[in-house]
Amino acid sequence: MHKKIIIITSLIVIIIVGIALFIFLPPKFTLKKGNIKLEYGQKYQEPGYKVTRLGHDYSSKVKIKNKINYQKIGKYNIIYQVKIGLLTFQDTRKVTIVDQEKPVITLNGDKIKTICPNAEYQEEGYKATDNYDGDLTKKVKIKTNDNLINYEVKDSSKNKTVVTRQIIKEDKTPPVITLKNKEETIYQGNPYKESGATATDNCDTDLSNKINISGTVDTNKTGTYTITYEVTDSSGNKGTATKKVKVISKKTTNSTSSSKKGVIYLTFDDGPNEGTTNIILDILKSEGVKATFFVTGNGPDYLIKREYDEGHTVGLHTFSHNYQTVYSSVSNYYNDLAKIQNRVKNITGYESKIIRFPGGSSNTVSKKYTPGIMTTLSKDVVNKGYRYYDWNISSGDAGEVSTASGVYNNVIKSLSKNKTNMVLMHDIKPYTRDALKNIIEYGKQNGYTFEKITMSTPMITHHINN
Ligand code: ZN
Repeated sequence: MHKKIIIITSLIVIIIVGIALFIFLPPKFTLKKGNIKLEYGQKYQEPGYKVTRLGHDYSSKVKIKNKINYQKIGKYNIIYQVKIGLLTFQDTRKVTIVDQEKPVITLNGDKIKTICPNAEYQEEGYKATDNYDGDLTKKVKIKTNDNLINYEVKDSSKNKTVVTRQIIKEDKTPPVITLKNKEETIYQGNPYKESGATATDNCDTDLSNKINISGTVDTNKTGTYTITYEVTDSSGNKGTATKKVKVISKKTTNSTSSSKKGVIYLTFDDGPNEGTTNIILDILKSEGVKATFFVTGNGPDYLIKREYDEGHTVGLHTFSHNYQTVYSSVSNYYNDLAKIQNRVKNITGYESKIIRFPGGSSNTVSKKYTPGIMTTLSKDVVNKGYRYYDWNISSGDAGEVSTASGVYNNVIKSLSKNKTNMVLMHDIKPYTRDALKNIIEYGKQNGYTFEKITMSTPMITHHINN
């Protein structure tokens, strides 16, 4: 009897233990790939899992808790939970978000920087950014090592970046010499005065007082002389410039005996002017012809620059082209002349002394403002070293005609092989622009040559009427 009780009790215990085991037996969690490391910026992707117990698959019943904060590096848990019966079982996957990306340093200016030998490098600036920490510019440490500048920065994960700038101290740029006058013309027998020059350098201070001037001008002998200006900077770079000085005979003034017969001087007054002067310059260039422009205060500077640079003569007409302003006194005339002379000099560096009076030297309009002024000026300008040029062929483009064929006919009917042909035209007139190519073609086909006025061109002058 006693034995029976023991056996029954044992059976009950075994059954209870068996039921308990069945209820409390944990399932087996299989997490593919285990713990995971993610680079900052990457998103977590579930690699998969399996939950089984006693041959039964509970995977579809798993609930996942994911509390990753992608904005912050650190350690996170992903929890897999499954409810079996009244009990909940779980397993954990560890996810670590790390920052292994180095910061980026960007340098302003050149990575290989050339500076003057006597200069100190002036920091041109830099910027450091990191994918995680953002702007790290303020944490950049600068270390200078001879000619190398190292920029170093670490992000909060201790990723380090070093960028180097190389400084080269050298000067290979020669000094620049600026001449007061690029060319000068003086009369035989008059003294030559050095007008001076300035020298600037990218590294050195003003070198003007170190310029070496060589070359001589024999003012007793006509001809073209060259004056050479040289200066060397502290790195041994040499800059040079030359000036042409023309010594001309006073005797050619007013002389017609040395006139060149069959030569055409194309002269253009009243410009420059956008839309006409530029086309005229194009035509002259393609025809290989040099001309003379008597310019005014009007029009853009660059056209005067082009006239000069393309080898034409830039003569002085008048700044204002207002007869009252110009002819109301001798001093007013010279004031106006100085203004246009300065304009040309400022644009080209060339001090022109070739002039054409407004209205020509034969004008009578000046009588209204100052009787006798042309008689005075025509002698006085020559004594002051200027040369003035009237004309002996008028294109009529100032009023008589207003078509290209009218301009063309007026010019070619007056051309002669037995004289110097000084042709008056106006480069502000569209019909003159349109007639020019045909006039040049006619001249070339009929054996004429084209020249520009120079200081040695004999003056063509009108009869003075005031
Ligand atoms: Zn004029």
